[in-house]
Amino acid sequence: MSPLLHYSLFAIHSLGLSDGGIDSIINASMSGKRILTPLRLFTLALLGLGAAGVGVIAHLNADGEAPPASPATAGIYGQDVPASTLPATLLPGLVLLTPHQLALIPQVDGFQSPCGTAGGGFVYDAQPFNTPNEKRGGHHTGCDINGIGGENTDLGLPVHAAARGLVVYNGEPSPEWGKVVVLAHRLPGDSRIIQTLYAHLDKSIVNVGRFVGRGEPIGTVGTANGNYLAHLHFEAIASPCTEAGQRAYSATGTMNRLDPQQLLASHPAPAVPDPYETVRRLRVREAGLQQPMAPAANMPTGTVPVNPTQFL
Ligand SMILES: [Zn+2]
Repeated sequence: MSPLLHYSLFAIHSLGLSDGGIDSIINASMSGKRILTPLRLFTLALLGLGAAGVGVIAHLNADGEAPPASPATAGIYGQDVPASTLPATLLPGLVLLTPHQLALIPQVDGFQSPCGTAGGGFVYDAQPFNTPNEKRGGHHTGCDINGIGGENTDLGLPVHAAARGLVVYNGEPSPEWGKVVVLAHRLPGDSRIIQTLYAHLDKSIVNVGRFVGRGEPIGTVGTANGNYLAHLHFEAIASPCTEAGQRAYSATGTMNRLDPQQLLASHPAPAVPDPYETVRRLRVREAGLQQPMAPAANMPTGTVPVNPTQFL
């Protein structure tokens, strides 16, 4: 006999509910006898406690009957992730775009070449997108834009924003990458977010959080600290992360990279400057004109300290 059943039979017996006990209670009640003796009250309390205990045990059992975690996740959710399983260095460039950034990303009016003329004059693509490169162990995830002069003749040439965008990364993920800028753009129509990445820069001149107009200078062509002949490694990325510092040669397809030349061809910029950029330049010029014209203390008298045209 189980302990629970034994306990219940004991309680019923104590209450006098067995062997015609109900009849005796009814008779006692009709004859005015006192039926709730201290012993019966005590037994009723014990019964209540027992019922509550059974309920708690049943509840705990229900929780314990959940399907066990799979071996793949047991180690993760069963305890804190041990530090030894984390990568030695977390990539600072692999940062999820925040909801605030996503809301701010402007819609483009088209894409243009980031180097040379807006239409891609005076530059060429030395290593097109998805080109297999055995030495580097994979397919090229971007394209390498060079000046037509060859070698380092393009060192220091301006790099322009390929489209109106929000600066979401400006840094140096590794010496091999050199300085990198990433812009986020919203495509017209389906509002897809596309990012453009500009790598190996000699200088980067825009900060994270700034809006840039199409064609606005964002840096200069560089060599990634002397690692290569000067060129611009240019990528187009469909990703919710900034993706700076990932592999430039992928052994497993082209990941979430798009063909930058195809992006430029499918969304050609109008043959006029970005109105956004024109307004920005006017504002900068206005700000320059409104600066106080008093000569600085160490300047010879008569010199104009601010030349508004320097901002253009
Ligand atoms: Zn490249």
